[in-house]
Amino acid sequence: MSWVEAGRRLSSSGMVIVPVGSTEQHGLHLGLGTDWIIAWELAKRVGEVKGIPVLPVLPYGVAMHHMDFPGTITLSFNTFKSVIMDVLESLHKHGVSKVLFINGHGGNLNALLEACREARAKFNMICVVCQWWDVLAGMGLNVEGQPAQTHAGYAETALMLAFKPESVHLENAILSSTKQVHDEIKLESLSSARFMGGLVRLALNTSDVSDTGSMTEALPSVIPDVRDFSKVNVDLGKRLMDLLVDWLCKFIEAFKTFDIQKTKVSEDKAFKALRGV
Ligand SMILES: [Zn+2]
Repeated sequence: MSWVEAGRRLSSSGMVIVPVGSTEQHGLHLGLGTDWIIAWELAKRVGEVKGIPVLPVLPYGVAMHHMDFPGTITLSFNTFKSVIMDVLESLHKHGVSKVLFINGHGGNLNALLEACREARAKFNMICVVCQWWDVLAGMGLNVEGQPAQTHAGYAETALMLAFKPESVHLENAILSSTKQVHDEIKLESLSSARFMGGLVRLALNTSDVSDTGSMTEALPSVIPDVRDFSKVNVDLGKRLMDLLVDWLCKFIEAFKTFDIQKTKVSEDKAFKALRGV
């Protein structure tokens, strides 16, 4: 669209969809573009149905942990956050006050949220990050018995069969169970481990926990190697896509009326709250 059209549409909707992804390895059977392609395809469909402007997808994210696998491109945390902040500041200047990020890569989450918080403080914007696997998990949905968030698992594979089937090589599909290196400190994922049931957080590389690049994000006793992808097909991908697009469209309707008045903090109001007045 031209700047004239953009000017009209940005100020009339006050809202924008920003798809963000990553260029990173996705196991033996999916392409490097998986995360940005899914975010982009969902965003385009939702924007079209709801008439909300969609920014071009950001195809790079924070993917340091995947760098042992060729083809992965990463931005540093600070670069990624700065890019997002600059995008938000630009949108703010054009009258946008609400932003829906459709995020295709979990590694982006912390930087996205930091930028959202800064935009709230500096520009009074309300920014929301939606990760499609969180939506499915929040609905209590698993995907043919598997959690939605597994890296190069059933859900991502099905969505890519719906969006870009030529990039999927099902004959190489495997979801590798989390590699273990210690008898007592049991790795759940590259970022969490259990010791006597208690949780510790780590920041390992993907290659520390997986030889193929796919990741279950679970103890091997919970999700062992998955080699049977026979139930993963285009129809499943389209079903997931329809569910997600429908949910996102409904969310946008609610988000339109999600307004938080910026009021001044005061002693008077605080003590009234204490007294229940
Ligand atoms: Zn992914």
